[in-house]
Amino acid sequence: MSPSASVCGRLAPSPTGYIHLGNVWAFLLAWLAARSAGGRVILRLEDIDPQRSRPVYTDAMLEDLRWLGLDWDEGPDVGGPAGSYRQSQRGALYAAAVQRLEAAGLVYPCFCTRRELRQLAGAPHLDDAGAPYPGTCRDLSAEECAAHRASGRKASLRLRCPSEPLCFIDLALGPQEASLVHCGGDFALRRSDGVWAYQLAVAVDDALMGVTQVVRGRDILPSTPRQLAILALLGYAAPQYGHVPLLLDGDGERLAKRHQSLAIRELRQQGADARRIVGFLGWRAGLLPVKQTASPAELLPRFAWERLPKDDQLCRREDVATFFA
Ligand code: GLU
Repeated sequence: MSPSASVCGRLAPSPTGYIHLGNVWAFLLAWLAARSAGGRVILRLEDIDPQRSRPVYTDAMLEDLRWLGLDWDEGPDVGGPAGSYRQSQRGALYAAAVQRLEAAGLVYPCFCTRRELRQLAGAPHLDDAGAPYPGTCRDLSAEECAAHRASGRKASLRLRCPSEPLCFIDLALGPQEASLVHCGGDFALRRSDGVWAYQLAVAVDDALMGVTQVVRGRDILPSTPRQLAILALLGYAAPQYGHVPLLLDGDGERLAKRHQSLAIRELRQQGADARRIVGFLGWRAGLLPVKQTASPAELLPRFAWERLPKDDQLCRREDVATFFA
């Protein structure tokens, strides 16, 4: 990609735990992709779920990311034209977007409970990314809605999904095509407890913040067609997406917040060196020939999409323990 000041990438951490090596891997690659194209970087806190987000993690996250040598031009601590960089404070913008979709007849209330959906879809679990939805409430009459409300049921709001396939060219994976009908069907824009859904908040924020490049883990790939649908229906241009491989633990499981031993906070407390952590990740990403120390800025001239590995990368605690300290 040629250097362009118009590239705008973003780091979008959820403050639901201390940031760990798996998060940093994706954030480092997002930062390198944007900065190596001469672009800007936004830091946005995805603290939309009040039950899961904790303020204590917010400060720790920003501090850990800076300690590693990442920086951003806009964010909750530095401000910027978007106003707030915390999703918990951007509810009015999500409400306005849903109103526009509602006015176009694209939103309907869904009275199904999680338990009912689980039974209907035979889904092992339901999460915010949306489980398969068979369209139970798609065509309820006004009387049926009123009866559900009278019985005390609260409604979530679902998007009436377009049936055409959605196509995009992924910076890491190449051409992608997905049909929303086949990947979950109509999905929630607002939960029945009033919490705005991740898909809505991310799409609206990426558009309103002028994000042109979204680099994130491959685990989020199934969400991209949903976000593309929201963007298109609201008349916004889509950013470019790049879904990078994941860091896996010794058992082949995605690194998650429960891997506390690979939390940056923990590694710092044990005396780890930031340059070693970044160098290790740069080596895993194919940007360094051997395990060596590096800062994010030193990796910049080496960043190229073609260099990134195609497969998920193993990262065992014992592999990194001796190198980090
Ligand atoms: N907030 C999400 C996470 O921490 C990332 C969402 C995204 O990049 O779109 O996993």
